[in-house]
Amino acid sequence: MYGDTGAAAGRIRHEHLSAVLRLTPMAMVANMGNASLILWSFKDSLTPGLFSWWAVMMTLASLSLLSWFRFRNRSSTKVSCRAIRRSTLHAGVLALAWGCLPVVWFADAGHSQQVAITALFTGMMGAGAFVLGALPLASMAYVAVFAASALWALARAGEPQFIAFALLVLLYAFMVLVGGISYWRKATALILARNEAVRHEQMLAVVLQDFEQRATDALWEIDTEGRLQQPSARLAKLLHTAPDTLRGLSLVPWLEQHTLSGSGDLAQALAKGVPFHNVAVVIEQGGQQCHLALQGKPLFDELGQHSGWRGVVSDRTAIEQAQQLLQRQAHTDSLTQLANRLSLHAAIEQQLRVKPHSGALLLLDLDHFKTINDSLGHSVGDTLLTCVAERLLQHAPPHSLVARLGGDEFAILLHHNDTGADTTEAQALASRLVTALSRPYQIKERRLRVGASVGIALIDGEVTHVDELLVRADIALYDAKAHGRGRAAEYTHALRERTRRRAEVEEGLRQAVRRDELSLHWQPKVDLSTWKITGTEALLRWESPQLGKVSPGEFIPVAEQEGMMDLIGLWALRHACECARNQLKGVRVAVNVSPVQLADPEFVSLVQSVLESTGLPADRLELEITESVFIEDTEAALKQLHALHALGIHVALDDFGTGYSSLSYLCRFPFSTLKIDRSFVQEAMERPEALAVVQHIAQLARSLKMRTVCEGVETPEQLAMVIGAGIDEAQGYLLSAPKPLEFFNSFTEDWNTQQAPLEYLPE
Ligand code: C2E
Ligand code: CA
Ligand code: CA
Repeated sequence: MYGDTGAAAGRIRHEHLSAVLRLTPMAMVANMGNASLILWSFKDSLTPGLFSWWAVMMTLASLSLLSWFRFRNRSSTKVSCRAIRRSTLHAGVLALAWGCLPVVWFADAGHSQQVAITALFTGMMGAGAFVLGALPLASMAYVAVFAASALWALARAGEPQFIAFALLVLLYAFMVLVGGISYWRKATALILARNEAVRHEQMLAVVLQDFEQRATDALWEIDTEGRLQQPSARLAKLLHTAPDTLRGLSLVPWLEQHTLSGSGDLAQALAKGVPFHNVAVVIEQGGQQCHLALQGKPLFDELGQHSGWRGVVSDRTAIEQAQQLLQRQAHTDSLTQLANRLSLHAAIEQQLRVKPHSGALLLLDLDHFKTINDSLGHSVGDTLLTCVAERLLQHAPPHSLVARLGGDEFAILLHHNDTGADTTEAQALASRLVTALSRPYQIKERRLRVGASVGIALIDGEVTHVDELLVRADIALYDAKAHGRGRAAEYTHALRERTRRRAEVEEGLRQAVRRDELSLHWQPKVDLSTWKITGTEALLRWESPQLGKVSPGEFIPVAEQEGMMDLIGLWALRHACECARNQLKGVRVAVNVSPVQLADPEFVSLVQSVLESTGLPADRLELEITESVFIEDTEAALKQLHALHALGIHVALDDFGTGYSSLSYLCRFPFSTLKIDRSFVQEAMERPEALAVVQHIAQLARSLKMRTVCEGVETPEQLAMVIGAGIDEAQGYLLSAPKPLEFFNSFTEDWNTQQAPLEYLPE
């Protein structure tokens, strides 16, 4: 059943032998007593033989007791096969000694002695077989010897009725043997099962120990009263307390004392009495927060009575902290620690749900931040953004949300107030922010300035979706920037219409040059002393298949902002020069040049190559520039103008009087012409001061050797005023509106033959 070899077999043999030896003292006392009883029943006919037999019995029993005694003090838990064989031999010898009794003395014994021998002999056989049950070989040897000697004794007695006795002895021996073997089988199976259970227990202990030492989990067990049972060091560590504190402590009340959340859930789970998982409890101990997750199972005793709970508690603090960090990172801008786009979206969504009739979104964009970033480096740019964030936080109202959307874009969500969407409040905040942000920033040893534009969109009940609100604020911001930056604009539907229109213009314009949709119209300039047409201004016209005629006043700013002006400007220049060379004989052509064109370092060489390719002499070309070319980089602009002047090209200062009108430019560059803006012509008719300005410009220009042109002359009275003020040339609808080339040429012919300029003067 368990084999001969191996430590396990040795242990099983030890168990068997122990079972036998446990009964040995009693059995040996019985042996001695019974042997003595036999001696006593023969007291009247005692022979030396019988006495010797008694002495042998006593010796054997004593030896057995001795070996029992020795075995008891033995420390080993294993028993060899030899020891089992020795026990078998011992049993055999004892049986042989008993066997001598009936064989030698039964036949000649008296009747009462025969009864004593029979009773004691069969008793010894049964009892011995039972005692030796755990050692089947010994038991079999013992019974066999007993049975054999009984049969021999009966045969020697030779009485016929003893045949039945002999059969009974055989049956008895057989039953004792079968009983013994079945007992042995059961005992062995029991031992094997017990050993297996011990092995499992040991393994489990190892696994648990490993679990306790290494994992972030600990076992917990409570009794029916909720008191902790055998709290491990690991559990104590997990709860940030000493193991002694935990012993016998009531778990739930203890957690309640230290809990931040979740102990109620645990109490509920325990009250339900069914297994639970992942009950989260957050406790605070020694200033530390720890997140625990408990699972548990009810325990039952052998009678099926509830005896407590056992489970695992896991430390989820690290996981929880990592998750919180991720969560935070996902919702904050890493540079400024403001809310990011994601959280702004969520906040707007929430506000639109809760109070869709109040609050506002402000979108902020720094003006010319890119220039600072590109020229001073990203670390300065980053520091600047952090400073901007600080100022926004300082000025934002207490319950608003300040966010950075990326780059130099920020947003403030004004939360609801009870008065609903409030334009004045939002506007006031926007202008405070524009002022605050434009104050200089001290970054390291640098003092930097950066402006800001703000777009405002009100949460006025019309907006139902986050994107819509963002689009509205964006449209407003765009408008603020388009109107000179450093200001705030509020969304209106008209603004949206303008934005939509602008987007259409932009899209159409991208194809305009390629699809040949552009053309030039020509407007003459008339010399007021000779009444000759001395020059003509080329004015761009665009007819889009989708949008129809779009005025340059509309599409040129779009082209400038969207980087299309170089291409369109070059087209106008080339086309104007071609016309001047081929059709417009005798007059100087004026071409408007946008500041973005002049800012291109290649501009001068481009103009030169156009002149070369069209064959137009340089002095027949006049370029009209506005004062705004000097805003960004005055020196570079002057350098370009000088280079153009060196080529022999005339340069006119357009829209004079409207812009920054710094007269210093007039000393630093020899403009050929000053074009006085048409607003002056209108104003001079109404206000004497405006007239004085026009007169003084005329004088100043004369002393600087520049010619003067008044544009926008619409009425004979205006013309008379212009002549009276001493202006050299006039341009305007009164003389001619801008016309396509073919009309312009016939107009010039008519003009030159007409010779009747006075019809343009008041009567
Ligand atoms: P600008 O250079 O001041 O051009 C004169 C504008 O005044 C033209 O408008 C012209 O049609 C208009 N005008 C002429 N006479 C009168 C008048 O008596 N009364 C009134 N109220 N207006 C008059 P237009 O053609 O719409 O051009 C607008 C602006 O677009 C131009 O202003 C110029 O700055 C720009 N532009 C036109 N063509 C070009 C071009 O080829 N290149 C560049 N860079 N800009 C151009
Ligand atoms: Ca012009
Ligand atoms: Ca002008």
